[in-house]
Amino acid sequence: MADDFAHAANELLADYRAGTWRPDAQEQTAVEHLAVGPLELLRVRRALLMTGMSGRLADVLAAADALLDTPQLAAGDAGAAALKELTELLAALAADEAGAGVEPTVRAIEVAGTVWFFMTSGSRLPLVCRTCGARTGGVLTARHEDATYECAEGHLTRDPRLTAAELRQAIRTTAPRLARIDGDFYISVDLR
Ligand SMILES: [Zn+2]
Repeated sequence: MADDFAHAANELLADYRAGTWRPDAQEQTAVEHLAVGPLELLRVRRALLMTGMSGRLADVLAAADALLDTPQLAAGDAGAAALKELTELLAALAADEAGAGVEPTVRAIEVAGTVWFFMTSGSRLPLVCRTCGARTGGVLTARHEDATYECAEGHLTRDPRLTAAELRQAIRTTAPRLARIDGDFYISVDLR
C-alpha cells in the first residue's frame, strides 16, 4: 500500500514538473494548508474536508490519511518513504516550483505589526480595526473574492481598500512560505 502511494505521489510530482498536471485553486488551498509543517492525520483530514476536492491530489491525500491512521505502517520504512514523497510534492507545489501561478481559494497571514496600504502616490495608510481602533496584530484572510482583517480582539473588519487579489499578491511577494509576519506588512493598492 505504501509503495503504491509513494509511486502515485512521485508520479504526480513528475507530471507537475513536466507541466502535464497542475493543481486547481481548491487543491492549492489544501497544499498551502499542509505545506507549513509536518504531515499529521488531523491536518490531512481537514484539508480533504475543507476543500471537498477530488482528483489525483485528493487520491494521494486519501492514501496518506489511511497510512497516517495506522501509526506502525507510517513509521515503517515504506511508510516513511511514501510520506517523504508526499512532503516533497507539497513543498514543490507550495513554492510554485513549476511557475503554475495557481492561487489558493483561501490564504491567510498573521501579522504581529501594522498592516500598511502602500498607495500609488507613494503615501501609506494603516489598516485599522473598525470596532476597537487597533492597528497592530491580527490576521488577514483572502477567501475567494472576500478580504478581511481580524484584530487581536477578534473583531472583523472589511476595508474597501483591501481586496482579495491585492492581499494574495502581497502574501505571494513578501511571505509565500510564512503563516506569520513578525513585523509590519505592506499591501500595494491601486489608490491615490
Ligand atoms: Zn478590534
